[in-house]
Amino acid sequence: MDALFRGPAQRDLEMYTFLMIVVITHEIGHCFTGYLTGNPRHGTPDDASVEGQAGGEAGFALEFAIFGGVIEMWGTPAARLDQPGVPYVFADYYHDTLGRKVSSRYIRRFIDRTSGTS
Ligand SMILES: [Zn+2]
Repeated sequence: MDALFRGPAQRDLEMYTFLMIVVITHEIGHCFTGYLTGNPRHGTPDDASVEGQAGGEAGFALEFAIFGGVIEMWGTPAARLDQPGVPYVFADYYHDTLGRKVSSRYIRRFIDRTSGTS
């Protein structure tokens, strides 16, 4: 119901906030690899990856552990260039896997919980 009262700017802010959380989560995965190996330039071990991906990718592995998949923001060419995009979650990294749209309700609740507003 409150979606009726939320304007495009509020929805964009929530999407950008969620995107920022995903990006920071991803990069923390890489920081953990450096911390755990004792070498900040160490590559990700192959077993820290998601199915369908060649080699390790600590950022995606941490996204998978936290969000249940890899998050990608997809935009539309017809939309303006500064759009946040639409978030999809992918259960693996195969090129033919269909993503599931992340609901805006989930994102709003996720942000409210992490910001302490609910
Ligand atoms: Zn990465």
